[in-house]
Amino acid sequence: MVCILNFHVARALNISYIRAKHLFDLFESLIPTKGRNQGFVTLRFDDASVQQYEYALPILEKFNMHGVLAVPTKWIGDRSRLVQSRYQPMETWDKVKEFVKMGWEIASHSRYHRHDRITKGPWTKLTVKELHEEIIDSKRDIIKNLGIEPYTMVLPGITTAQNPITLREKRLICKQYSALSLSSNLKVFNRLGRNPYNLWAIPLHWSTDIFAKVEKITRISKNKAFWVIFYIHKISDDLSDPLTSMKPSQLKALVEILAADEDLNVVTIRQGVELGCPDQKVQVHQV
Ligand SMILES: [Zn+2]
Repeated sequence: MVCILNFHVARALNISYIRAKHLFDLFESLIPTKGRNQGFVTLRFDDASVQQYEYALPILEKFNMHGVLAVPTKWIGDRSRLVQSRYQPMETWDKVKEFVKMGWEIASHSRYHRHDRITKGPWTKLTVKELHEEIIDSKRDIIKNLGIEPYTMVLPGITTAQNPITLREKRLICKQYSALSLSSNLKVFNRLGRNPYNLWAIPLHWSTDIFAKVEKITRISKNKAFWVIFYIHKISDDLSDPLTSMKPSQLKALVEILAADEDLNVVTIRQGVELGCPDQKVQVHQV
């Protein structure tokens, strides 16, 4: 269960957590049975960069695949971010709307991405007002700009060590969202004792043997009925940029590998929960 990555993140092993009730139901329905090798894979694109619009949207569309776009809502159209960093957010919500049209899931990735000290985080240090901005107001932004209620909160921070959450944050998230996708390291793997389902979130960054790794991981996903969430950041031919996850051609090759595998379900987080527990009623939360 260790994924060694040669670029940007040397060693990363991560998991995601979805509300305990979902997890339990999901586990029950996904226990592998004889002759059935079926796993779930999710492609999660974090931070809503313009390159995700340029490359990920058309590439996934070609293979009739839907990803999850995790949007820091106040970054959309924030021109100052273009100047401050090499990260380029999508300029308008109209671009995000195209993902919705194509069947993607739009997740909240907070408002300001306050995941570390530089960004005035992490969340445990935020005031109640700031925390509400990140969790509740980001949801309101998505409803206002897209007319849809986000199902999932994707916690900002490349690992949970960067932005660990406590009961205060978890409670608020669970009140507002049906699923929480986060990243963490080996130490906290399945740390919630009541959570028997194996969700495995892996940041994908370019490395020479990325495809062999992806094939290996997806094989584990199928054989053990794991749900693997690959999360990807900027897509660019400039691999010297530390924000870059992979080249457009590599993303295309990766999607081809996943599409060619008939035993693999590529799902959004919402689809995964709903497929895993079809009786689950989607909860509507008031904001
Ligand atoms: Zn992020």
